[in-house]
This record gives sequence, structure tokens and C-alpha cells, in this order.
Amino acid sequence: MSTLRFYAIQETLNRKTVHVEEPERRSTIFGQNVFNEGSMRQYLTKDSYQSVMSAVEKGTKIERHIADHISTGMKEWAISKGATHYTHWFQPLTGATAEKHDAFFETMSDGHAIEKFGGGQLVQQEPDASSFPNGGIRNTFEARGYTAWDPTSPAFIYGTTLCIPTVFVSYTGEALDYKTPLLRALQSVDSAATDVAKYFDKNVTKVVATLGWEQEYFLIDSALAASRPDISLAGRTLLGHSSAKGQQLDDHYFGSIPARALNYMRDLETECMLLGIPVKTRHNEVAPNQFELAPIFEETNLAVDHNSLLMDVMHKVAERHSFKVLFHEKPFAGVNGSGKHNNWSLATNTGVNLLGPGSTPMKNLQFLTFFINTIKAVNEHEELLRATIASASNDHRLGANEAPPAIISAFIGSQLTAVLDELEKVTNGKLSPQEKTDLKLNVVGKIPEILLDNTDRNRTSPFAFTGNKFEFRAVGSTANCANPMTVLNAIVAKQLIDFKAKVDALIKDKKMKKDDAIFNVLREYIKDSKRIRFEGDGYGEAWEKEAKKRGLSNNKTTPIALKAKVSKKTVELFEGLGIMSKIEIEARYEIELEEYAKRIQIEGRILGDIARNHVIPTAIKYQNILIKNVKGLKEIYGKDFKNFSGEQLRLIEDISGHISKINSGITDMIEARKKANKIEDTEKLAIAYCDDVKPFFEEIRYHCDKLELLVDDELWPLTKYRELLFTK
Ligand code: ADP
Ligand code: MG
Repeated sequence: MSTLRFYAIQETLNRKTVHVEEPERRSTIFGQNVFNEGSMRQYLTKDSYQSVMSAVEKGTKIERHIADHISTGMKEWAISKGATHYTHWFQPLTGATAEKHDAFFETMSDGHAIEKFGGGQLVQQEPDASSFPNGGIRNTFEARGYTAWDPTSPAFIYGTTLCIPTVFVSYTGEALDYKTPLLRALQSVDSAATDVAKYFDKNVTKVVATLGWEQEYFLIDSALAASRPDISLAGRTLLGHSSAKGQQLDDHYFGSIPARALNYMRDLETECMLLGIPVKTRHNEVAPNQFELAPIFEETNLAVDHNSLLMDVMHKVAERHSFKVLFHEKPFAGVNGSGKHNNWSLATNTGVNLLGPGSTPMKNLQFLTFFINTIKAVNEHEELLRATIASASNDHRLGANEAPPAIISAFIGSQLTAVLDELEKVTNGKLSPQEKTDLKLNVVGKIPEILLDNTDRNRTSPFAFTGNKFEFRAVGSTANCANPMTVLNAIVAKQLIDFKAKVDALIKDKKMKKDDAIFNVLREYIKDSKRIRFEGDGYGEAWEKEAKKRGLSNNKTTPIALKAKVSKKTVELFEGLGIMSKIEIEARYEIELEEYAKRIQIEGRILGDIARNHVIPTAIKYQNILIKNVKGLKEIYGKDFKNFSGEQLRLIEDISGHISKINSGITDMIEARKKANKIEDTEKLAIAYCDDVKPFFEEIRYHCDKLELLVDDELWPLTKYRELLFTK
């Protein structure tokens, strides 16, 4: 094994940068492999084109005979780009993307062959879905689920395959994927936000939720990664002593990007351009070998697809550059982990960002309406929001003083805090003309278009307002953004519906003017949601105490956090908006609990294997060298040998001590797993893995890491942290 470590280091040191061709101007290749408006105009009849556009813009259905035309045009376009196959591309509940390629090629009865792709094949497919997680929705022998075309996310070509974004549902209509509920939530927020936006501008007919994610990741040489069974199988290191130098000097953050990594990024970004993923920003992150990539924001459904696609493309491009991409939230202990900030806002068809302060009091009242409703929604559903970011891997990050805590709160900055404090004083009932003028001039009118707090970055806040959007920062780097985005848009939709009902009631029953009614409801909302606003240090213990007093949830582990996904309140929310049924909600809960337990189980097995089969034998080998040395000293010095072998003897004992602790730790961990595996209730199973199995990891690791420090470096089989993080 140790030869593998040294071979991997050798291999890494000998790597040459891979030559990358880039177009002179990226704009010239942007979207070249996407069946976008431009290519549709070229390859579709006017009717077909309009039918797709209307489906995208208004959600209208595409007639079957039109679908036949569309599929033919799409096929011709794809073949002209070198595609030979097509696939329905979807996001099952594994969180990854799924595809099954079929050739366009078909034989005719007369022995000829043609390229064919019919409307039926575009619109619907029936993948054998028995092996995707379904949380008990389908019996595995009734393996029928189908994928259906989502025209709002354009088809694209990757490699030689035409990929058609689709939803994935069971024959009984239950969603089996991430996209279906997301699309329903986006529809809800569109209709709710449009209704409210009409208070301010009658011309608003559509509101889209926008998403700009920021993807963090680690790049490790593929040979080094392959030399570690834990990285290969679990995507993170389960042991390893920290490097003498880590991120203490902050010398990686925003530093110059190492040549090999930069070439990888250039190559990746070229692929992104072809696929129409508008990536814009790249930089080094805090930890060594950690980087970030961010696009220009897009409509949420498209942005989610683009992030899923990007994660896949990142793995593929990495192979060309002999890298392995680690998306895990915490691949290395002691250095920062990775997240995926979700920047979110709402935009109207008239081109207004509803979370962007405006230049007039009226525009600012609109801004405040959406701003305060969002805060209220987060206040009402903080526990559900927390649940959407729960995963075995993100547990390592939340609350570890490098990412937001497990407590959800909203940061808005001092300027807006002052504005809300003023609004809270608005008179109950009708406002006097004097008060209105005053409000308009001195409160609402005073919100500058560019907020100073824009730069006031409270990094410790899980949900921060950053000038013209909210940034949900607690999302993990491996997450499929659909999960948090479904919930965020759903809770805001629900909130806006309630708001509209309240305002309308005041107008109708209390004969209030629209502005008065809006001010009145907003005032109550500000009061109601005070507890969720927090401007201080989210990392401190003081906040934990304070949050508890405020009644905010602090669910530190995944099995506990997930419960909010099936609470009565959540079921009412999702059923009320038609986003998910109780069956779908419970199925997802089941799947996530199971996944959690499985991940801990796998990690436990890997750790046991590495510790017993790699670490202990190495420690014994080294101990034998020491024993031989002591015996030799005894031969030379006789009874005086102890004068010269005191250190060696102590080492021999220390090694035995650690070995014994590792062994008993593993034995106990296996017992705990056996006990857990007997539990049939998934909720209890996940809790058992969390409370009874996982705690052994630390204990076993501690002694392995101590041995790493004691044992001769030449013998140590596992590539060390300093090598993983600093070999370029
Ligand atoms: P940061 O300092 O956090 O990097 P940026 O202003 O560069 O802040 O934006 C970060 C992300 O926010 C980018 O992905 C960007 O596209 C996204 N973003 C900006 N405006 C919006 C918006 N209105 N809606 C959604 N995302 C947005
Ligand atoms: Mg950010």
C-alpha cells in the first residue's frame, strides 16, 4: 500500500498541464449546443416555434401533432451537431442526474435504416425505474414510472447525445424526482407574486424566481485521490492527521490560481459556454485546493438544471486533467468545507427585480412588501428551511464555525433594520395624510437604490439580504438546489397569498386605501417576525442561547432536522399549494432518512477497513522494527540497555495502546451497526446511526491519527493531508 502512496505522489509531481483551446471570444460559442430560441427559429416551423415559446412563457400544453414537428426539427439540429443518440435527462431522488441513451437509428421493414426521433419519444419515455429510490410509492415489481418533457428547460447536446430535460413521475402521478415539485412551487410563487405585484403595476403578468448559485469544490490529483480508499468511496477523508500548514495563513483565498487548476477551469468553462451555462466568476476559496465557480443568475428551474449538469460536467472534464473533484461538504478535517450559496430573488416580466430597492417611494413600497413577506415566510417556516439543507455530509459543516449554524435566521443590515423599525411605528388603521407624506419622504423614500449594507457581509448568517437578493448560505455543496428552492419558493408563495388576502380584506371591510392597508399588514408582519432577524455573530454560543429564548429551532443533526419535512404544517403547506401530496412528502422523508443511514453505514465500513487493514498492520510493522532495535541494544549493552532504549520502549507501548483502542472501537462500532440494522422503523434507524454508530468515528480516527504521527513516514500507507492538499 505504501508503494501506492509514493507512486501517486510521483505521478502527481510528474504531471504536465493539459493544453486547452479557448475561443477568442466566449460569447461566440455561448449556447452553441443548446436548442435555444435561435436554433428553434432555424429548425422549427413557425407554429412549432410558437407552441414551444408559449409553453415556456405561459405553461400551455403542446399538441401531439406539433410535438412531431418539434422532434423532427430537434433531431435535425442535433444530427447537424454530430449527435447520434438522445436521452431523457432527469433528476431522480438520488440527487444526481440520470440518463439512458437511445440511438436515433432505426431499421425499416425493407432492410433500410433511417434516423428517427418521433414526437412520442420527445414527449414521454418509460425508463425501467425500479432501481431509483421511490420511498415506497411504487412496488418494485410495478416498475413503471415515466419521464415527460419539460419544455421550459431547453434540450442540449453533451458529447454525442441530445439531452432532453424531463420530469420523472410514477404512473399514479406521484413525483419521483426533484424537478416536478420545483416546477409546481415556481408556478405557485409566480401566481402569488404576480397578484401582489399588480398592486404596484397592472402590467405585471408573470413573476419568475431567479437563482444564482455559487459552487464550491476541491480539486485533488486523481492519483492521490485514488490512493485513498475513503476519498474514492466516500468522497471525503475519514482519517488523516492535519498538515502542519493548513489554511492558517489565508494564503490561498483569492490567490493566484495554480496553473493546472486554471487550465481545468478554462476547459470546464468552455464546455459550460457551449452548454449555455453562463459561468462568470472563478476564484480560489479559503482552503488549499478549494475553488469556487459562479454563474450569472437565471430563472430557477433552468439554474437548477444548469447546476446539476455542471456538477456532472465538472467530473468529466476533471478526468481529462487528471483531477478528482470533491463536492463533499467536508472532505478534510481542520480546513474549511464547501457550500453552495443560493442567491434568490423574484423578477417581473416587466424587468423589475422585486427585491431591489427602487428610485421612488412607490417602488420602494413594492420592494418592502416582497422583502418583509420573505422574512415573514422564513420566520414561519424556519424549521422546514433547515430541513431542506440537511444531509449526512452537510452535518459536518453547519454549526462548525465555518458555515452558518443549524439555526436559521435572517440578516438584513443596519439600514434596512432602521427602516423596519420606523415602519413598525405606523398608525393602526388609516394613516393621516401627514403621516403618509412623512413615511414617503423619510422612510420609504430614503432607501437608497444601492444599499450601503451591500458590502456588509455577515458571513455567519444562513439567510442574508445582500442588496438586491437573499442569499441562502447554508446549502451544502453536494445539494441539488431544487430541494431548498422548492421550499423557499413555496413558503414565499404561501406568504404572499396570505398577505394579499389580508390587504384585500382591509380594503374591502375597513374601506382602507390600498397603501394604508399594505402599511398596516406590513407593520404586523414586522412585529411577528422579529425573532428571525439576527445581525450578530451566528457562530457564537451566545446566539445559540439567544435563539433558544426566541423559540427558534436548533436541529443539529439530519435525522432530527428532517422531521420538519413531514410536520402537519409542512403537509398543509405543500398540499394547500398543490406542490406535493402527503404520500409524496412521506416518501421523500423515508428516502432521505434511508440515505442518511446508508451513508453513515458505508463510512463506518470504510473506516473499519482502513483502520484494521491498513493502519494497524503498518503500526505493527513499525513496532516490530522498534522491538528489533531494543533487542539489538540489549545484545550490545546487556542490562544497561534501558539507558538507551527508554524512548523506543515508550513508543512500543504507545503503539500498543492506540492499536488496542482502535480495535475495541471498531468492534463496538460493528456491534452498534448490527443493533441498528435490526431496527425496522426508518426514523429510528437513522437516529441510531447518528447517535450510536457515528460517535465511534471520532474515537477511532483519533488513535489512527496519533499513529500517523508516530510511525515512520516511509511505512505509512495512506497519502497524508499535506500531500493531498499541497502537491500541485
Ligand atoms: P458575491 O459577493 O456573493 O459573490 P455577487 O453579487 O457576485 O455576490 O453575486 C453572487 C451570485 O448572486 C451570482 O451567482 C449572481 O448571479 C447572483 N445574483 C445576483 N443577482 C441576483 C438576483 N437578482 N437573483 C438571483 N441571483 C442573483
Ligand atoms: Mg455569495
